[in-house]
Amino acid sequence: MSPDQLVKGNETFMDKLLKEDPAYFDKLKEGQAPDFFVVACSDSRVSPSVISETPLGTMFVHRNIANQVNVNDESLAASLYYALVHLNVKKIIIQGHTGCGGVAAAKDGNEEPFLKDWIKGIRQGFQSQNRSPQDELNELVKANIREQIEKMKQHPVYKKYGKDTELAGYLFHLETGKLEELNT
Ligand SMILES: [Zn+2]
Repeated sequence: MSPDQLVKGNETFMDKLLKEDPAYFDKLKEGQAPDFFVVACSDSRVSPSVISETPLGTMFVHRNIANQVNVNDESLAASLYYALVHLNVKKIIIQGHTGCGGVAAAKDGNEEPFLKDWIKGIRQGFQSQNRSPQDELNELVKANIREQIEKMKQHPVYKKYGKDTELAGYLFHLETGKLEELNT
C-alpha cells in the first residue's frame, strides 16, 4: 500500500460516514465516552476496533508488543488512569491473538537489542502461569492473556481507581477472524 492510498482511503471513509449522517463529525468533535479500555498487541492484523466493527468513540486503546500490562510502563499507567478516572470506562479488555510474534519470540528466547528486555518480561509470565517455553505457541498466547489480567489486578492504578471495573480477556483467532472471550 502506498502513502497515497492512505489519503484516498480516508476520503472514502469520510464520504461513507457523511452519507449516513451529515452531522457525524460535528458530533464526533464534541468528545468521547468510550465503553472499553483495551490493551492489545501492536500487530498490524489485529486492530481492536476493526475486528469488532466498533464505531469511533467506543474504545480507548493501548497497544504494545504482545499486549503487556507492565507496571513500569508509564504510557500504560497514564492511559489506564485517564480511561478509569476521566472516561469512566465500563470494561477493561486484554486482547491477544493466535500466532503472536511477541509470544513466539519469548518462547524462542529472542536476544536482539531493543527487543530482549521486553521479550524477557513476556517470558517471565509463562512461568507465573505454570507454563514452559516448550508448550504450544497458542497455549502460551492464552497464558499470556491470563497473566496480563493478573498483572492488571495488581496494577496500582487499577487497584486505586478500577476495582469495580469489569476485566476480561479475549483471544482473536487470526486463522478464522473469530474473537473469543477467554475463561479467566
Ligand atoms: Zn502479537
